[in-house]
Amino acid sequence: MELERLQRIVIQCRKCPRLVAYLQEVSQHKPRRYRDWDYWSKPLPSFGDPDARVLIVGLAPAANGGNRTGRMFTGDRSGEWLFNALYQFGFANQPNSLRRNDSFKLQDCYITATIRCAPPKNKPLPEEIENCRPYFLEELDLLKNAKVFIPLGQIAFAQTLKSLRLKGYDAPPLSFGHGKSYTIPAGDRLRTPNSELRTISLITTYHPSQQNTQTGKLTRPMFHRIFRTVKKKLEVEP
Ligand code: SF4
Repeated sequence: MELERLQRIVIQCRKCPRLVAYLQEVSQHKPRRYRDWDYWSKPLPSFGDPDARVLIVGLAPAANGGNRTGRMFTGDRSGEWLFNALYQFGFANQPNSLRRNDSFKLQDCYITATIRCAPPKNKPLPEEIENCRPYFLEELDLLKNAKVFIPLGQIAFAQTLKSLRLKGYDAPPLSFGHGKSYTIPAGDRLRTPNSELRTISLITTYHPSQQNTQTGKLTRPMFHRIFRTVKKKLEVEP
């Protein structure tokens, strides 16, 4: 399957020397609580339901979270929030996941990220984002049913918009905030006689990072409101 082929390519990617070196460094300086873990320390493939209508776009893996377990958001605090919300709204079969290859499964939902290697201080460089963009652009082609996009946080929002424009969607300048909802139609260059055109709904949220959740900038009711909106959208426009 094409998505699996892409995921295999991603895992072997070494386009960003700074990040390749950082992943090695992290695995050699594990915090005490994870000292028995054999860190994944490679780029993380996206995962989920290939027929999903909902696409979640994270920023980057966490050095001691996804980079440790080998699956995006698995085993980190942001993942606890995200997976709990996905479970509450019927997009996941269990409320959390601590390890890759446990029985956690996404339904009608797919998770990807702006970049696939953990960056130092969670801050990717612009050229690293560009290096990783082709993988996201290819996912947009392969995830044919994806139409409700939830970028987590402002950077993922800006980068998702940029990618949609590169793909030919008509996305005007849009402002970021929590709980905004935008409709992004396919542009003229995507309109060919036999093309099946998608209109993308983009729903914005603050990132469920510890910084946001511990300070109360993002609360569970606020985060769950996003998924309530998503559910309604899917009901109205299945
Ligand atoms: S961030 Fe993306 S492009 Fe850079 S090495 Fe990792 S997978 Fe490759």
